[in-house]
This record gives sequence, C-alpha cells and structure tokens, in this order.
Amino acid sequence: MTKRLLLAAAAAFALPVPALAQTAAQVASVRDAAMKDDVAWDVVEGLTTEIGQRLAATEAEARARAWGVQKLTALGFKNVHVETYRMPVWVRGVETAEVLGGSAQKLTVAALGYSGSTGAQPLEAEVVYFASLAELQAAAAGSLKGKIAFIDHAMVPTQDGSQYGYYGAVRRAGPSIAATKGAAAVLIRSIGTDHHRNPHTGVTTWAKGVSPIAAAALSVPDAEQLVRLVKRGPVKLRLSITPQFKGEAESGNVIADIPGSDSTAGIIVVGGHLDSWDLGTGAIDDASGVAITTAAALQAAKIGQPRRTIRVVWFGAEEVGGFGGTAYAKAHGKERHVLAMESDFGADRVWKFETNLPEGAKAIGDRLETALYPLGIERGREKAHGGTDVEPILALGVGTIGLNQDGLRYFDLHHTPDDTLDKIDPAQLRQNVAAWASMLAIAANAPEDIGPVAADKGE
Ligand SMILES: [Zn+2]
Repeated sequence: MTKRLLLAAAAAFALPVPALAQTAAQVASVRDAAMKDDVAWDVVEGLTTEIGQRLAATEAEARARAWGVQKLTALGFKNVHVETYRMPVWVRGVETAEVLGGSAQKLTVAALGYSGSTGAQPLEAEVVYFASLAELQAAAAGSLKGKIAFIDHAMVPTQDGSQYGYYGAVRRAGPSIAATKGAAAVLIRSIGTDHHRNPHTGVTTWAKGVSPIAAAALSVPDAEQLVRLVKRGPVKLRLSITPQFKGEAESGNVIADIPGSDSTAGIIVVGGHLDSWDLGTGAIDDASGVAITTAAALQAAKIGQPRRTIRVVWFGAEEVGGFGGTAYAKAHGKERHVLAMESDFGADRVWKFETNLPEGAKAIGDRLETALYPLGIERGREKAHGGTDVEPILALGVGTIGLNQDGLRYFDLHHTPDDTLDKIDPAQLRQNVAAWASMLAIAANAPEDIGPVAADKGE
C-alpha cells in the first residue's frame, strides 16, 4: 500500500464515526439503577387504586387523564398536557345467559365491545355450534336465522402471544359473519387461556352495512360446559345482553416530554394506553405499560439530558379502536420522530428484543444487545413491529425496537375481571423498566443519525 493510500484509509476511518455520547458503563448504570425502580410500581398502583377501570371516553378515563397530568408533572416531565379528540362511546348493560329445559343452569358471559343488544325482552333461541371460525364461514347464507351462533376455538398459551392474532379473529370477525348469515346473537369461547370462570371481553368489528347483534364471550369453563351440552342434544338459551351506544364523547392523550439537547436529532416516542376494559382495573392492560415507559424515561435521563427528546404518551383510547394513536399521528405526524415504541403486553419480563432500524443506525441494536443480555434478554431475528397506538406513526416510516414480554400467562388475565394489581410481579416489572431504560439511554443519545425506514403498515 502506498503512503497516499494509507493516508486515505486513515482519513476514511477517522471521518464518519462520531464519539458515543454515552458509554457502555453509563448504560449499565442506568440498567442497574432501574432494577431498584419504584416509580413504575407507584404509577400502576396509583392508577389502578385511585381511578380503577378506565373505559375510553367515559368519566373514568377523564379522571385518569387528570391523574396522569398531575403525576407526570410531579415526576418532573416538561410540556405535560392533554390532547383531546372525539370518539364513539359504548357502555355495558345487563349480561345474563341461561340454559333452558331439563339442564337449566346459568352460564357466565360478558358482552364484547360494540356488541348490540338483545332488546327489552330476553332472547330465547336455539344454539348452533361451530368448532372454528372456518366452520362458521362455511355455513350457508340465512342458515342461522333466529339462532344463537356459538363459536369455539382451541387457543393455547405461547411465550410470544402469537395465538392471539390467529384465534382473536373469532372475536374480532366472528359476530359480524354470524350476523350476515341471519344469527340473532353470538356467543364465543373467550379468547383466553385460563380455566377460571371469567369471561374475556374485547372489541368486535361489524363489517360495513352489518347491524350489530348481541355478541358475548362465555368464560372458558362455561364454553366447555356448553360444548358438552350441545353434544347431548339441542340446547335452547335465554340471553339478555343490553349494552348501549351513547353517541360521541371526548377522550384524550396525555403527553409529557424530557426535552433533548439537540432539536435536530428527532423525537423518540414511547408509551402505553391509559384506557382499559371495564371488567378489571386494567393493571396489566395497560397501566403497567404507561408505568414502565414513564419510569424508564426518567431512569434514562439520570445520566444527563438526552440528545434526543424522549416523549412519553399515555394514549387515551386503544381497546375500543386505536383512536388515541390515530389522534397522536394526526397532531404530531409532521414532527421528526425517529423511533416509536409501545409497551402493551402486560408486566411479565422481557425475554427477547427485535429492531427495525435504518441502515445507518444498526449499531444501536448491537449496543442494546450488550446492555440487555445481563437481563436475560436475547436478540431475535425478526423485524420489530409496534403496538396499536404507535402503528399510525410507524406507518410514516419511523423505526422501532420491540422489547417482547413473556406472554405465557398474559391471556389468562387479558380483558377479564382478574386484570388487577396483585397479578403484577414487582421484580418482573422492574426488569421491564431496566430494559426500556437501557434502550432509551442508548437510542436517545446515539450519535448516529436515525433516518426513516421502509414504512410498516402493521398487520
Ligand atoms: Zn392493551
């Protein structure tokens, strides 16, 4: 190699790598301090105790927003404020189901979000059993006229929660399909993996032009009971499901910043959703998510003002249709977001991380690997996807990092009366904060430019 080439090579090495704004030792100090964090528990305990359930666009969610403003301000965040939007309101009514005739007995049910009503008088009708959504889809047009369609499935627990995408279609799409075939009402086996007598609620979606009919989930033991009864012969049920659509009302996102030192470096947005279903107190879904991301932002800032702004958003309405995330993207889509992440899969430990980073910022993933392995977190090979609330921002071409929580017991509790504070293990909650704080300490101070990625349209 000539002297000139050597000089050129040296110059090439010297040029493009700016110094790290933070060292691996600083990131480790953030991580280890977060393993003693009290803020996350304080937030999740406060929210679930002082507010309780937080159904979107109800008085309870409004109280939760006010609580959030007070809490985030007290914790030292800047620019703490609420951004409101309008959305439809649906509220639960009476929900009873009983078997008529020789095996007369009560069954435990809960209406699905956006369920229609059986009306002033209970519905008495025969049950038609479908072992799967595919069986229901294959039923002839008009064949369910005046009947109660009962849709079964075979969901099992998995660490990555992937069964929810597949079997969740029973809840999301099943009622609308049954309605198009003439059904008077729909019952589903709860989209859950427990064997407690707790039905799992959750939103259902009506296809365009389909009028909502009564749609409810049976607890898993009650669904299994109904399967046994149906096998013995025709079953007639008396069903009373009387939720109400209440028009439009206000919901809102609570937004708080830790301002960065370099306004050109972009914003990192993290958060969870403030609203919950109305059966439990929304501890794992998703008070824990807002708590983890809030606590992590504070821990990450303990090594000094971050280069990038860390914005924490408590999204006001996720469960009933992602209105909070849509409103955030509409209001803030023009600002330069470089990463967007949501914690919305309970409070059990993070076991794997994945990334979707632009070419020039891939080294962030390598530094994250070093920081997260001591927490028992491995690096996954798949591309990271966001959660419902950040999907509209990710769709603009913003990168993301997925800190995937263990989902083995998540669907035992999800959307049930059992989603309460006592289900949260403080040690695992802290491990989540440590993982998120390490990630934020690295990403918010990364010297690399974090450019756009190919837009992710989600599922
Ligand atoms: Zn959730």
